[in-house]
Amino acid sequence: MKSSIRKRTYQAIYRLLDRVSPLDCDCGTLCGAACCTCVSDETEGGPALGIYLLPGEEKVFTKKESWLRWTCEQAEDFDFPDSWHGKIYFVNCLTPPHCPREKRPLQCRFFPLAPHLTPDGILHLILCPDKLPYACPLIEKKLPLNSSFIRATYTVWTHLLRDSRIFDLVQMDSEDREQDGTELYFIR
Ligand code: SF4
Ligand code: SF4
Repeated sequence: MKSSIRKRTYQAIYRLLDRVSPLDCDCGTLCGAACCTCVSDETEGGPALGIYLLPGEEKVFTKKESWLRWTCEQAEDFDFPDSWHGKIYFVNCLTPPHCPREKRPLQCRFFPLAPHLTPDGILHLILCPDKLPYACPLIEKKLPLNSSFIRATYTVWTHLLRDSRIFDLVQMDSEDREQDGTELYFIR
């Protein structure tokens, strides 16, 4: 699937997010890196949970990384917006919780934050409201996150939302939450 976001923009985003983290310490020590090492029922005994890449994010990779397993799917076969057509890439991490930190996908960098568009179109960051197969102490205990991490993540999402397909995805997820009455924890 073509993306309006260039490889060098993704690389700049990766560099910006390399400089920040949710806490000053490694939050993986709080939970045994639960978000990295969790396996789903389908991957029991196999690699950790799959991560989908945003449109064009695959350009940052060679697809020959020995620590990743790649799967290419059709966007139409998954619960993505109608504007998403063609190839999308999923990766499974083969060496969790270890990976080249500067290469970890965006989904790993944003967590536990997620973007949310209110009905008046304002972008907010929220704690990930999805039902997860593991407990994240940052979410469960609502631990205060580094303001540098929050600022950088917000800045990145303002750039990503300029891509119409990424905007459609965030809008779709946000509308679903509003309609379902999902309890949201806004990051101020
Ligand atoms: S983001 Fe949450 S689940 Fe993942 S390592 Fe940090 S505390 Fe653990
Ligand atoms: S790529 Fe790195 S941060 Fe992401 S799940 Fe794998 S080990 Fe964790």
